[in-house]
Amino acid sequence: MTAAFNFDLKATDGKARTGVITTPRGAIRTPAFMPVGTAGTVKAMLPDSVAATGADILLGNTYHLMLRPGAERVARLGGLHRFMNWERPILTDSGGFQVMSLAGLRKLTEEGVTFKSHIDGSKHELTPERSMEIQRLLGSDIVMCFDECPALPATDDEVARAMRLSMRWAERSRAAFGDRPGHALFGIMQGGVTPELREESAAALKAIGFDGYAVGGLAVGEGQAAMFGVLDYAPGFLPEDKPRYLMGVGKPEDIVGAVARGIDMMDCVLPTRSGRTGQVFTRRGALNIKNARHQDDPRPIDEACTCPACRNYSRAYLHHVFRAQEIIASMLLTWHNLHYYQEIMAGMRAAIAEGRFEAWQADFHAGRAEGDLPPL
Ligand SMILES: [Zn+2]
Repeated sequence: MTAAFNFDLKATDGKARTGVITTPRGAIRTPAFMPVGTAGTVKAMLPDSVAATGADILLGNTYHLMLRPGAERVARLGGLHRFMNWERPILTDSGGFQVMSLAGLRKLTEEGVTFKSHIDGSKHELTPERSMEIQRLLGSDIVMCFDECPALPATDDEVARAMRLSMRWAERSRAAFGDRPGHALFGIMQGGVTPELREESAAALKAIGFDGYAVGGLAVGEGQAAMFGVLDYAPGFLPEDKPRYLMGVGKPEDIVGAVARGIDMMDCVLPTRSGRTGQVFTRRGALNIKNARHQDDPRPIDEACTCPACRNYSRAYLHHVFRAQEIIASMLLTWHNLHYYQEIMAGMRAAIAEGRFEAWQADFHAGRAEGDLPPL
């Protein structure tokens, strides 16, 4: 493993960008969607199946893995890639977001956060230094800075305080990460919906210097209009020549809108979680397979989709196995959703490269306006 971490911006179309991130574990084509493998597995999917959907990289959660099975244990067993049998790149979050969500179970200081495990109530501490250590033990290819994302609703003062604390933690994260060739450290911009705070945060991160930059503090309940409002200007504060990652996004429409505003990477539990609850995403919008109107329908979810669920099974069958709570329902619906998400990403990459992203977006929105096929 010798190749350095590198981002090659290949083409732009409006604000949208396409490129390739090179890592020792393989290339990541951008814009990239990262499936979420919270606890060392993308739920209901084998790693080969995740790769078959077109995913170049997946995301692991520091918070969950540090509590169970524990980062030191994963390291003794050869690191997360080997442990979960995924050879391609992995990005880990810092644990910050999940810890901050533990309202009432955590205590925040300048040093870091102490909290009680949601599993067994045991006491733990996360600091920028410990988060860097855990992500190193896991063997993550892209490491995220430890930050504080304030819960909404938050006052401007609270957002500013959390952003400035996050910038001090970013500096400590950078120092603790050290020099690790082939591994990347991303800074996380905070600042809520206030342009001045976003600009201040971006300037602080750029002064420290990172391999990539995330737009944090969005997709936390502010709504699509407010999120797009921030994305209209915030990516412009970040360096052109580094990847930009929007954390925790989102629905297909959110992803397309974010790419149109200059985002290169995203992750979300939506396609996998929805697969387990019977919601499927298609180019004609979302549908719920448990709805009785599917029970006699011999057609696939989407006749144009080439995933195993659509190639081999009817809506009637998927409806049946979902209602019967058969495990294959989660497997097939998750596969379809991840396949659909990766198809959107591939479509956008090609359209941006060929300078026809505007037309691609018009087609994308026209398909949704058409709506799902009526029952037979
Ligand atoms: Zn499908």
